[in-house]
Amino acid sequence: KRKIAILTSGGDAPGMNAAVRAVVRAAIVKGCDAYAVHEGYQGNDTTLKGKITLTTLKRHRLGLVDGGDMIKKMEWDDVQDYLSIGGTVIGTARCAAFRERPGRLLAAKNMIKKGIDALVVCGGDGSLTGANMFRSEWPSLLEELVKENELTAEEIEPFAHLNIVGLVGSIDNDMHSTDITIGAVTCLHRICESIDSISSTASSHSRAFVVEVMGRHCGWLALMAGIATGADFIFIPECPPHAGENWRENMCAEIKRHRDLGKRKTIVIVCEGAIDSELQPITAKDLTDLLTERLHLDTRMTILGHVQRGGSPSSFDRILASLQGVEAVEAVLASKPDIPSPMIAMCENKIKRVDLMKAVKLTGDVAKAIGRRDFEGAMELRDPS
Ligand code: ADP
Repeated sequence: KRKIAILTSGGDAPGMNAAVRAVVRAAIVKGCDAYAVHEGYQGNDTTLKGKITLTTLKRHRLGLVDGGDMIKKMEWDDVQDYLSIGGTVIGTARCAAFRERPGRLLAAKNMIKKGIDALVVCGGDGSLTGANMFRSEWPSLLEELVKENELTAEEIEPFAHLNIVGLVGSIDNDMHSTDITIGAVTCLHRICESIDSISSTASSHSRAFVVEVMGRHCGWLALMAGIATGADFIFIPECPPHAGENWRENMCAEIKRHRDLGKRKTIVIVCEGAIDSELQPITAKDLTDLLTERLHLDTRMTILGHVQRGGSPSSFDRILASLQGVEAVEAVLASKPDIPSPMIAMCENKIKRVDLMKAVKLTGDVAKAIGRRDFEGAMELRDPS
């Protein structure tokens, strides 16, 4: 019987539970055993400090890395009601140990001890980079485990090939090769609801609001929220003001124009990773001060913060995660050593398998292009068509 494990890793996203539910139930329907790895790659030990070696790791309890009671067998009823719950019930974490080879070595050992040969990772680009690294190192990890007398050659024999499948759980919608990621639509909806609430009070008092939204280095949430709420001005990392452009002047002129037309409210949305042409951050505080000082508007700042990522997933995210979770299990069952690990994507409304390694690399290339101010290059990489 195949043993398929799922873990959620990195930043939580609404819909991750629906993905776990779909993977568990699809695995059971296909005659496999399903497992959930609790607390991501990390587990529940936050005391691990200093140099990470196999010896230090053995003294700690780490999620995939710990194995043991962090890897739990899941039955059909264990995921009851998962569809509507926000966040991730099985827990998530950031794990320094998994970034180092000894951490991945212990993870490999624990998986083999539990008989698990397929791992579905639901997380953002960081988690999927780690998953990709894990799979590419797998043969050498097994070799080392035998050399170190951690496992015998007989024990590793059935596990020569590791199946890894990536599901993209991220509120930021920042992964290449997929149109949308699990959690992004719910997060966008929550942002819009919040801005609607802000708008009514802004109109009442004729105030300006600068609203900071999440998204790290990806402006999708800010851009879409700007369109959906009719914001006056937005700032996103992918499209900073041009060098030499007096963007402060331009923003103030635009907002003044709106005010002169009779608008009683002003909404400026800024992505948390927004930058100017010198790659310096454009912050909500700077913008608030600017509107106060130059336009004499009664301006308030609202950092939406974690309210954006919490709460029940939208129907779209439940459906996306459910369809992709089933596809992940089918991808595991179809996998062969010579087929690259897949990431489950959504392209032009279709659930698709794409090459995990390529998607991870292209996501990194976009970030690097933005880092060297090649914004056109970044856009071209993101959407060559
Ligand atoms: P997200 O998956 O939401 O992007 P992070 O970037 O924090 O979140 O990554 C989550 C975890 O994935 C990290 O704590 C680490 O354990 C693992 N990870 C990230 N990048 C790498 C990497 N280059 N190599 C190995 N593991 C990684």
